[in-house]
Amino acid sequence: MAALLEARNVTKVFSAGILSKKRAVALEDFSFTIQDSPPSFTAVVGESGSGKTTLARILLGLTEPTSGTVRYKGKDIRHMSRAEHRTYLREVQVIFQDPYEVYNPFYNVDHVLETPITKFRLANSHKERRALIERTLHAVGLRPEETLGRFPHQLSGGQRQRIMVARALLLRPRIIIADEPVSMVDASLRATILKNLSQLNKEFGISFIYITHDLTTAYQVSENIIVLYRGAVAEAGDVEHVVQDPQHPYTQLLVGSIPLPDPHHPWAAAKAPAGLSGSTAESCKFTDRCPYAMPMCVEQPPPLFRTNPRRVSACYLYRDSPATVPETLTDVFAGSVADSNQDHAAADG
Ligand code: SF4
Repeated sequence: MAALLEARNVTKVFSAGILSKKRAVALEDFSFTIQDSPPSFTAVVGESGSGKTTLARILLGLTEPTSGTVRYKGKDIRHMSRAEHRTYLREVQVIFQDPYEVYNPFYNVDHVLETPITKFRLANSHKERRALIERTLHAVGLRPEETLGRFPHQLSGGQRQRIMVARALLLRPRIIIADEPVSMVDASLRATILKNLSQLNKEFGISFIYITHDLTTAYQVSENIIVLYRGAVAEAGDVEHVVQDPQHPYTQLLVGSIPLPDPHHPWAAAKAPAGLSGSTAESCKFTDRCPYAMPMCVEQPPPLFRTNPRRVSACYLYRDSPATVPETLTDVFAGSVADSNQDHAAADG
């Protein structure tokens, strides 16, 4: 299988300034691959400061990594020809968290949708352009007669976000990076928008990278999941396995914080018992919050242990499993996509 988008050993370190020694590692030795086929849906989950937005910006070419490379169709995105870069800009689209910030309040929806069509010469006539826009609005569940001609302030938050999805879809992307796309949308609309993204994944063959702090929505729509903690992969693999049976203590904490619809089981955010004090840069990053921390956890950061063919966990509790390298995520995800296709084939049959 050819790689469509590949991040290889990407690290991003921010420093406070050229005269300061303060450094913050936002992302550390991160590798993963989106294959050309079949289209996938991968969630990248973590709390604020986990590095997920830095990852999105690096994949979009908006932030330069300190080390490592991002390749699109085999080409380093920093060294593309003009034509290759244009293809990359068209085929890798983004949906941001706050659709209102993306809009210019002086332009109506028509302008928002016509601009990419003109820029990438996607239609040859006014009639063709209009037909393309109407088709795309229908694809994201919007009615053209209720949307076109309106200004951003005349639309609901859910409508504005769907127009951003339509704008991305117009370009027939291969990948959409959705950065917290429903966190500013009413709870009642969240499920509808996520269902829509899932349909686009299946019907249009678009791979999604869904960046979120919300494990519940990640579970609803994704097939693969990467749990990031302070810039490093804590656990990754098939979403069903990771969420139903979390291995890494950080994932267990996240799953334990999900409210349950059970009146006899009142929800309280799970609290991590105090971990081992005295952690250093050489420690597991979760040492000071981990209830299972052991002396070995402060001596050296744990590698990714391949606990089964479809998941990895960066935790010494699984040190009996083979230690592996970050690039293994490609195999882990390829296995889970293949399995999910088999499941669908079995269900269809
Ligand atoms: Fe906890 Fe140690 Fe595992 Fe880190 S390596 S999550 S400190 S048990």
